[in-house]
This record gives sequence, C-alpha cells and structure tokens, in this order.
Amino acid sequence: MIAQQWSKVSQELRQELGESSFKSWIEPLELVGVENGIAQLRAPSRFVGDWVKRNYHDMIVARLRADHTDLAQLEFSVNPGRERRTPPKPATQTTEAGAILESAPLEGRYTFDNFVVGKPNELAHAAAKRVAEGGPVTFNPLFLYGGVGLGKTHLMHAIAWDLNQARPDLQVLYLSAEQFMYRFVQALRDRQIMDFKNLFRSVDVLMVDDVQFIAGKESTQEEFFHTFNALVDQNKQIIISADRAPGEIKDLEDRITSRMQCGLVVDLHPTDYELRLGILHRKAASFADTLGPVRVGDGVFEFLAHRITNNVRVLEGALQRLFAFSNLIGQEITLDMVQDCLSDLLRSSDRRVTVEEIQRKVSEHFNIRLSDMLGPKRARNIARPRQIAMYLAKELTSRSLPEIGRRFGGRDHTTILYGVRKVEEMRGTDSQLAEDVDLLRRLLQS
Ligand code: ADP
Ligand code: MG
Repeated sequence: MIAQQWSKVSQELRQELGESSFKSWIEPLELVGVENGIAQLRAPSRFVGDWVKRNYHDMIVARLRADHTDLAQLEFSVNPGRERRTPPKPATQTTEAGAILESAPLEGRYTFDNFVVGKPNELAHAAAKRVAEGGPVTFNPLFLYGGVGLGKTHLMHAIAWDLNQARPDLQVLYLSAEQFMYRFVQALRDRQIMDFKNLFRSVDVLMVDDVQFIAGKESTQEEFFHTFNALVDQNKQIIISADRAPGEIKDLEDRITSRMQCGLVVDLHPTDYELRLGILHRKAASFADTLGPVRVGDGVFEFLAHRITNNVRVLEGALQRLFAFSNLIGQEITLDMVQDCLSDLLRSSDRRVTVEEIQRKVSEHFNIRLSDMLGPKRARNIARPRQIAMYLAKELTSRSLPEIGRRFGGRDHTTILYGVRKVEEMRGTDSQLAEDVDLLRRLLQS
C-alpha cells in the first residue's frame, strides 16, 4: 500500500524534476510509513536526506497529501546499506548530480601518525592539526603551500581522515583543483550547473588540492570564487593547497588571491637534513613491517639524507628500492649497495647549481642587471639582492667563500661572509625576504 503510494508519487516527481535529479534524489528514497501527520522516508545517507528536505520537502508533502490529508512533515532516517547495494557506476557515466560531490579517495598512509614533523613543516602541521579537530572555524581558508613532494597532499588527507573520525556528521569533500574543473565542465555539459552550485555550497569542509591548476582557466576560476565565497559566508572551513604562495600564482585573479590571503597562509619549507633523517627512519620502520626486517648498514640513512634533498617522494622511493633489493638478495643495505642501486638518482642529484645560475636567477627575480649584481654599486636595491645571491651560493653550492668572492666581481671572502650572515639574520625578521629566498631556492633546485 505504502509502496504503491510512493511509487505513484515518485513517478510524478520524475515528471516534474527530470531524469537526473530524480535519479540522484528521489529514486534512492523509500517511504517507510505515515503516522500522525509525519511521513517517514529512508535515505541512503544523511546528506541525501538533508538535501531532499531542503529542496523538495513541500513538493513531496503536497503529493502525499492526496492519500494522507493530514500530512504536514517529512522525516528522514538513514539506511546506508541501501547505498552499498547500488552498483558503482563507471566514472564516464557519472551524469547524476550526486556523483559531482564524491570525495576523491583518500590514501590510507597519509595520516597524522605517519607524518614526521620537523622545523620546516611544524607550522603547517600545527595548522592542519587545528583544522582537523573540527572545532569552530578560526581561520578561513587554511592555505598550505610548498614545493613538490613536501607533504601538502599528505596533510590534507590527514585532515580528512581525522575529521571523518571526529565529526562524522560533517560532509567533508576533498578533491584536486583539476577534478573540480572536470566536474564543473561536466556539469556545464550535462546542464546540471544548478546542481553543481548547490552541491558545492552544501558541504561543511571543502579541500581543494593544487589550486594553481585553475590559474588562467577563467570560467572555472569564476565558479571556484563563488563557491569559495558562499562557503566562507556560511562559516564553512576551506583548505587549499598550492605549489606557491597565493600572490605568486600567475594568472590567478586578484580578488581570488586576496580572498585566499584572508585566512592563514602557511608554507611547507624545503626539508632540512634532520627532517629527512627522521622521515627515513620512520619509513624504514614501516617498510620493515610490510617487507620483513632488513638490516641497514652504518651511514646509509645519513648518506641518503645528505644526497637526496629535493623531494620526500624521491627519498621514499629510493629507500623502498633499497629495501626491495636487500630483501631479494637477503643482505644488509650497505653504502656500496646504495651506490649501485641508486646510481641514476644520485647522478641526477649531482647536478649542482652554479654560482652563475644563482646570480642570474636572483637578478631576474629582483629585476636588476647582472652587471650591477657583480659591480660596485652599494644602493640597497642592488646590495640586498647581491647578498641574497651570496647567501644562496654558500647554501646551494660547495664553493668556498674565497671562490664565491672571486665570482662576485673579485670581492673579499669577508664581504661574502658578511652578506651571508646578514641574510641569515634577516630571514628571521623580514618575512618578505624569507619568502624571496625560499622561492629562489626552490626555483634553483627544481
Ligand atoms: P605534495 O602534495 O606536497 O607534492 P605529498 O603530500 O604527495 O607532497 O608527499 C609526497 C610523499 O612524501 C608522500 O608519500 C608523503 O607521504 C611523503 N611525505 C612528505 N612529507 C612527509 C613527512 N613530513 N613525513 C612523512 N612523509 C612525508
Ligand atoms: Mg600534492
């Protein structure tokens, strides 16, 4: 009886709403009973229930009144089992509005427990931890940025894992900016743009990874901006990552940049030796858990931490290769084995930055002439970039101070030392300078 009533009503709704909305929202519902003016409906998830309540409540009530004249209200219960029984649809056929909102899958390893904290990432880690508690929104958005392989995606997944645990009531959506664009374009194509807008505005926590991707993509940016504003206005948490600071993303509209800067912008710095060593020890323990115990000879971790400096992913891959190899031949990992096994990696990290390259990049960055950098001018706008170049030359090359001095137009090594110290000191107090230095370092090492 009830089932028949519902099937009649849902067919009417199908006519009224069209096929795709019907499939997303009405078809998954089940009418369980009507009593005391309340109709009980079962939805596959809280989210679908809320959505239907918000958008179709009156429409459904009006139709059910044909059989239940006193009906005033709908109530939804959740029956997740039903959702699981629906077979998953291939990605190419996700024309249903509901599919727009699926979170990208989370990597099981990317948890806070597996994240090694050190000086270069402690701020980003602390901010991520705070957001992961799911308490009141204190900074919005959280903007995480840093070079490739420094743990941005790892931290975002960790936030999502924790939120799912601590606040299962929240609708948390994680996706890359590329997926955001893809779904947007698909919604345009399928004429579901209203669904797209409403869906994105209904999440509680939105995380968009690698947002630099949408730079220069105008309509996607526009849509992103509106979604972003709508969520911020509702005080919903947004977390964004990019490979550089908001202001440095070319072709990103100013209004977006400035909105992003309103929250908390934190930087994942390039790893330092201690952090790399910590990560190696941690990964070795987890590889040992899965691959079985492997002996690691003296100096191996230290050697790797010294030599593979660009990117944690590469470091991880190197260690994994060593473990697999050692496991295969049943011998401990020695420095000789490292040389053999990783010769390709070590060769490429042998590519040393030259002092000349540093001078060129720094001049370009500060818009001064290379000849001025090497010449005698002492005006601040020339002298400061020169000191930064000296500092980077000391940091990134193995040249001695006198050698560096010779390459800076024959300056004395004490001048170089002074410049290096000056920049070291200013990095702590002048955040603009610190950012410039980090950016240049990243450019030079990539
Ligand atoms: P990004 O998104 O910044 O490019 P990822 O988050 O994908 O970098 O990290 C690259 C790899 O390095 C991942 O496997 C990640 O687990 C690992 N990784 C990065 N930083 C850390 C860290 N601090 N502790 C443990 N693993 C890390
Ligand atoms: Mg990433």
